[in-house]
Amino acid sequence: MQSIASPESNLYWTTRLAKMPIPHSIRSNKLLYSAYSELSSRGRISESTGLLLMDEAPLSGLTALASMVKHSKHSDDVFFNENLHVNTTNICVLACRFCAFRKGPRHKDAYELSVEEYLHRIEPYAEHIDEVHSVGGLHPTWTVEHYAELYRQCKQRFPHIHIKSLTAIEIKHISERSNLSVGEVIETLKEAGLDSIPGGGAEILVDSVRDRICRGKESSQEYLDIHRAAHILEVPTNCTMLFGTVESSSERIKHLSLLRELQDETNGFQCFVPYPFLHDKTRLPEAQLASSNEILRVISVSRLMLDNISHIKAYRMNIGDAVAQMALSAGADDIDGTVGHEEIMHSAGSKTRLDSCREDICRLIEEAGFAPVKRNSTYSEFERVASSDTELNVLPIIQV
Ligand code: SF4
Repeated sequence: MQSIASPESNLYWTTRLAKMPIPHSIRSNKLLYSAYSELSSRGRISESTGLLLMDEAPLSGLTALASMVKHSKHSDDVFFNENLHVNTTNICVLACRFCAFRKGPRHKDAYELSVEEYLHRIEPYAEHIDEVHSVGGLHPTWTVEHYAELYRQCKQRFPHIHIKSLTAIEIKHISERSNLSVGEVIETLKEAGLDSIPGGGAEILVDSVRDRICRGKESSQEYLDIHRAAHILEVPTNCTMLFGTVESSSERIKHLSLLRELQDETNGFQCFVPYPFLHDKTRLPEAQLASSNEILRVISVSRLMLDNISHIKAYRMNIGDAVAQMALSAGADDIDGTVGHEEIMHSAGSKTRLDSCREDICRLIEEAGFAPVKRNSTYSEFERVASSDTELNVLPIIQV
């Protein structure tokens, strides 16, 4: 893959934004025009503007503004990768109220993969992927040695595969089980082969909300501290937001603001992944849920608030391919991967197709009017591709 990131573009996205024609839907709305002015002059909107946008902005103008910001950073490019999810275990000592994945140790469907079984899951996909995404429940007995052995053997067998693994709460749990600090756990696992950390488990970074939906999980501060520790050790991480449970708009904005603050400090987040709660009749019956419009609204406001996180993902495993395509016109620039296998969202009711090939993802992106770019897991190498599999290489790829 070619590496053609442009560090200069970091400085100039606001200049590009200021030069773009302003659609009528933005010019004619005081709130949206004021948000546009804040972004094009200072590159940042305030929390109060973010809250007004979340609650009051008309959706068409809001998505148009988010799309302008996306274009000022990434032009027509939309990123994807070729990956596989392998969950290490569904046994979990916690019982978050929204979770459809966890099982108690004696449940008939409980499982824990041995190292060999884990490698066996990757084997059939290994030739076509360059990332394995692995998270799991909080296993009652596994310590850092188990994960270190897993990553070591994975790297030995599949040296080309990037290991993106462990949520913040798993890292906290492993540190407690192993009598090590969070930093020591991350350092040990980095040496063993851990390449980056996904963002799962952020939910909403407001402790009163966490207390209602995932009591016993790490606090908001602990989530941020664990990601900060990874950034200090030069392990890149990602961040997420689970919305549509019991949170208010201002709590969503607080969440975005806390992530933005940490990114100002460390610049260690690669991608932000907002996704709605997928409900059934048994979990969190009081959840407010999110319509497709609400999903697009949250993705748009995320793009506008998180000026310092380059990539906003339309996580198609959760929101489905159709809404993910729409999200590309609402500020998202990444559509996730081919995803050979996935369990967590599918346990919660996702019907999104698994095991797409590169051409399928390219077609999805092209149908939405964008240019597919295959990326690596750290967004440092890119390959411009097309569903016809013809190399295009026309436009420079801009990274902001
Ligand atoms: S969300 Fe994670 S920590 Fe919570 S119950 Fe499910 S597997 Fe366990």
